[in-house]
Parts: sequence; structure tokens; C-alpha cells
Amino acid sequence: MTEPDIPDTKLDAARNWLSAAQRVLVLTGAGLSTASGIPDFRGPQGLWTRDPDAEKLSDIRYYLTDPNIRRKAWLSRRDSPVWQARPGLGHEVLARFEQSGRLDTLVTQNIDGLHQLAGSSGERVIEIHGTIREVACLNCSYRVAMQVVLKRLAAGEDDPDCPDCGGILKSATISFGQSLIAQDLARAEQAARDCDLLLAVGSTLSVYPVAGLAPIAKQSGARIVIVNGEPTAMDEIADAVLLGDLNELLPSVLDGAAHQ
Ligand code: NAD
Repeated sequence: MTEPDIPDTKLDAARNWLSAAQRVLVLTGAGLSTASGIPDFRGPQGLWTRDPDAEKLSDIRYYLTDPNIRRKAWLSRRDSPVWQARPGLGHEVLARFEQSGRLDTLVTQNIDGLHQLAGSSGERVIEIHGTIREVACLNCSYRVAMQVVLKRLAAGEDDPDCPDCGGILKSATISFGQSLIAQDLARAEQAARDCDLLLAVGSTLSVYPVAGLAPIAKQSGARIVIVNGEPTAMDEIADAVLLGDLNELLPSVLDGAAHQ
């Protein structure tokens, strides 16, 4: 991880913009949860960086057609670090920022539910890529807590099917090749049009359509502030890019802004 080496003027500018903003849209990615023990996909230590084959587990085409991929996916859900993870400093700082009354919406690409555990309110959080804490049938409307299906796994099933229709079950997450929930995307795009500042944290900003929220906000006149450990795909349109560990940068930028 790059050590923060950011001119004070840049940090001050970001802090000032954040304290002046009235409607902030926060966009979070997997980098926010690495400190909680959940690896990201594309960072230097990311799951896909280390094992490109792991990407298949998140692709709906392989999932639908290959029972072996489904069995592996169930084992990875069972063994996911999410079940032991606690919110990190970044989640806590964002929950505190909400108390300042200037957070309009928090769109997270994360599926781990840690924002809500840190105290962010469910009405403001849009889990745009779904949640690993629930399971959905790909054929009917059956939906249930993940732990219910993990119990079936513990009892010996390796590719549990839908008890209502026999369809394929999957975590209630959006895999590659699946559409986002239209209502969630519409809400997120509206928030991007309405915000006066978009703060993107811990994301490569390379996964669409979520990454597209940044240009929407920019075209609507909002400032863009990016905090990440490495350059992102949206740095060119950003007003400030703060490169470094978000666990150091976020408290400095957000707690400072909340108290000004
Ligand atoms: P990504 O994996 O593409 O990128 C994460 C970024 O965060 C990287 O650029 C990495 O360098 C940076 N980062 C990691 N730790 C950091 C730290 N401490 N400080 C600053 N930067 C840090 O992430 P993405 O674009 O958000 O994810 C792609 C998809 O993967 C998402 O759609 C999400 O659904 C899924 N995902 C979710 C989780 C989770 O729920 N926690 C974990 C992994 C992947």
C-alpha cells in the first residue's frame, strides 16, 4: 500500500469541499473492507490478482452451466471471512459522517453488510451488487437467509436447490453477466445527478454501471473526490485524488470536514 504522501493543500481542499457540501454521495468498494479481513478482487493482494480462475465463481454463465463451479461457490460462501468480519475504521468514519446530516446516499459495491453493522442507516445504503447474507432462487421468488442454506451444506448437500421449485440457488449478489436491480440503479443514478459532491473510496472504479455514477455526477456539476490505494479509472475527471491507505485518509478528510 502506498504511504500517504499528499500535499496539505490537496487534503485541505478535499476537507473544505466536504464540509461545504450539502448532499454527498459516497461510493464504496472492496478496499473499504480489506482492513476487516475481507480481501478485494483487483487490488495488489486481490483474490483475482492471485488466482485469475477465481473470477469464474462470480460469473453467472459458469455458475448456471457448471455444477462444479456451484459446489466451489458454496464452499467459498461457507468459508467466507465475512462471517467473522467486524466493521473497520472506514465504515465507522462513514457512519459518523452520516450524523453530520450531509450524507445523502451511500452506494456500496460491497456485499458484506458491514456499513449497516457500523451504524449506517439502511435507508441511505444501496447495496448495488446485492448481499452475501441472503440467498435467492434464480428461477422463482424464493429468498432466505444465507445461514439457512449453509446449514443444508453442513448436513451434506453440496449444491442445494430451491425447496419451492427445484431451481438453482445463489447468494443474493449480482454476478458478472447479471443485471443490477433496476430500482437500485435508478436510485443511485438519481443520487449522482442530485449530489454536490461524490466521494469514491476503495474502488478501482472499473466495474460498470456503478463506475458510471462518477461521470453522471460530474456532468451534473458535482465535485469528485477519490480516495484509494492506487490510481482508478476515474482519476481524470476527479477534482482531487487522494492516494494512500483509506484508513488514514478517511478520518483525516471526513472527521475534519464534519467538525468544521
Ligand atoms: P476492487 O477489488 O476492484 O478494488 C478495490 C480497490 O481498493 C483497489 O484499487 C485496492 O488497491 C484498493 N484498496 C484495498 N485496500 C485499501 C486500503 N486499505 N486503502 C486504500 N485502498 C485500498 O474493488 P471493487 O471495484 O470495489 O470491487 C469489484 C467487485 O468485487 C465489487 O463489485 C464487489 O461486489 C466485489 N467484492 C466485494 C467485496 C466485499 O463485499 N467486501 C470484496 C471483494 C469483492
